[in-house]
Amino acid sequence: MTGLQRSWVESANSAETDFPLNNLPYGVFSTSNEDERCGVAIGDQILDVALLESEGLIKLGPKPVLDLPFWNDVMELGPDKWAELRARLTELLGKGGDPALSGNTELRAAALVLQADAKLHMPFVVSEYTDFYAGRHHAFNVGTMFRGPENALPPNWLHIPIGYNGRASSVVLSGTDIRRPWGQLKGPDDPRPRFEPSERFDIELEMGAIVGTASEGPITLDEADQNIFGYVLLNDWSARDIQAWEYQPLGPFQSKATATSISPWIVTAAALDPFRCKTPPREVELLAHLKDTGPMLFDIDLSISLQPEGGTDSIIAETNYNEMYYSAAQQLAHHTTSGCAMNVGDLLGSGTISGPEKHNRGSLLELSWGGKEPFTLDDGTERSFIEDGDTLTLRGAAHGDGYRIGFGACEGTVLPALKSPFG
Ligand code: CA
Repeated sequence: MTGLQRSWVESANSAETDFPLNNLPYGVFSTSNEDERCGVAIGDQILDVALLESEGLIKLGPKPVLDLPFWNDVMELGPDKWAELRARLTELLGKGGDPALSGNTELRAAALVLQADAKLHMPFVVSEYTDFYAGRHHAFNVGTMFRGPENALPPNWLHIPIGYNGRASSVVLSGTDIRRPWGQLKGPDDPRPRFEPSERFDIELEMGAIVGTASEGPITLDEADQNIFGYVLLNDWSARDIQAWEYQPLGPFQSKATATSISPWIVTAAALDPFRCKTPPREVELLAHLKDTGPMLFDIDLSISLQPEGGTDSIIAETNYNEMYYSAAQQLAHHTTSGCAMNVGDLLGSGTISGPEKHNRGSLLELSWGGKEPFTLDDGTERSFIEDGDTLTLRGAAHGDGYRIGFGACEGTVLPALKSPFG
């Protein structure tokens, strides 16, 4: 594994920054002077790559691709150009690299913006959104709560990554406030449902994989791995009481449609390459088209924290992406088996990432065991589900030798339900 790659941007050389030269994640930002534009995080700065392209320092083809405020046009160019851009950025920002930027005081001042002075926006246009249920510990925990430990895993679970088609329109950027939803609620002993604000509002800690190359028809696992451009943290906000009443037989619908938050920086598959790892041992042999052909999962430490309104932030769970039973490549390959076309900007949610221990659980449903075992925050208050004013934050980073590949935070504050659902 390579160590820290040094940059002339000094803040990028700290072991604590999320954004060393090894990372180079892609986002979209604006400042008080400039409209939304493509940028790359480096240390505590953002490099204005739209400006560098217009100045001729980055040239990926005959036409500009960084001039619009989303990264889909870069994805469209394909993996060779993705590698070319990453190499060029490394050259421009690396210590002892091309002095075209580092040696030009005026351009340097214009092209580097402090992250603290910028506002971040959606980094790509989400064309479609699919959510999976591919974490072994989460599926077992939830299945145990609803059906008992003998029937916890559905019979198909160890053979296919189960998923459902979500809503691209639900995907929002970290920092967007989340309004507690109304919906149909019905307890098991209630004679009829009622229409009220959700009382069991929850999160799901997930990774989102972004498809960078379109496909038509079935693709192999190796092709699927190649087609993934990068990853974000993803919080699949979930109303458990709405879900419990609506989910049979077609799966979640309104319970998952309020919002899905993503972190603001696309961490590329290339940056994560040193952290590839295998999926856990197979409990039953997978069919050939889903059988692992190499390490396609990633070792990424993940956490959830909860901060009550006006209170302190408590870490309530810690886990790792390597706990997933299926990799994003397996999910994508499975997604195409029917002939389903995939588009640039397709977003795949991994499913909730829980680990084996209580402290590794990636949802409040599991942490409080369906509300039966409330957990305690650092300030002594208890929680079973989200309360109004709570801020939930996901964090994630892969840890290398003297550096980290961080994702930035994925956060959202839950606002009280409206007095009437109709405004
Ligand atoms: Ca989910």
